[in-house]
Amino acid sequence: MEKPIYPSKNMRITQGYNEGSHLYSYAIDEAGADTSVEAIYAPFTGIIKKVYQNDANEVWLESSDKVEYPDGTIDYMTILFAHANDVSNLFVGKRISQNEVFYSEGTKGNATGNHCHIECAKGKFTGSGWTKNKAGYWSINNGKKPEECLWINNDTKVIDNHNYNFKKIEVEILEDTPPKTEPPKAEITPPQIEPSSENKAPQTNTEQETQPKPSTEASTPQLIFTCPKTDLYGIYLKKGEKLYLKK
Ligand SMILES: [Zn+2]
Repeated sequence: MEKPIYPSKNMRITQGYNEGSHLYSYAIDEAGADTSVEAIYAPFTGIIKKVYQNDANEVWLESSDKVEYPDGTIDYMTILFAHANDVSNLFVGKRISQNEVFYSEGTKGNATGNHCHIECAKGKFTGSGWTKNKAGYWSINNGKKPEECLWINNDTKVIDNHNYNFKKIEVEILEDTPPKTEPPKAEITPPQIEPSSENKAPQTNTEQETQPKPSTEASTPQLIFTCPKTDLYGIYLKKGEKLYLKK
């Protein structure tokens, strides 16, 4: 099950929820590392449900499946993005993969600098996607706090989280036991060392002795790492350490 990931690699929230033009909503403004136009990555695999070009090029992305929220909720998620300058390649029904660059910051609509307005909602797209709230702003239906919806990743650079406590996706490192929920896709295991011929115990005919036993050191995995997703990984190795990959 996917964990929705914060859609910018450079988190810099310049306006939080329930303040300024975000009164009575859980909207945030994400401005990236600087003032240039930065990419917006799909937080989850989903389907475009609405594109509204009359205002700020608002786009609604609904998750294809239920996702895992950082607050423990398991449900569909819908997110509204606004201010991209060009959404001509987006259309209702288009499928977007998690982590795909599909949107960007911009200034379309009532925006003073390049940023992306983001609103998360629990559940599937409903109604027209949004409702005019009591401050007169249009905001997504079933809105939910962004830090209760989006995770940050190892490659999310947090410049300003606006004091919102975003939960980090921890890379799973296990000592000995493989995970119970999913079979490991890749493991690092020590080699099965054949004892040298002079140390080899005399062969016996009992079944349990037919396989030579590797030394205790060699049979204890030092590290088992389960790849959470297909990606490039960097591993810090000390001199002399060996790395074994097993599918
Ligand atoms: Zn905004």
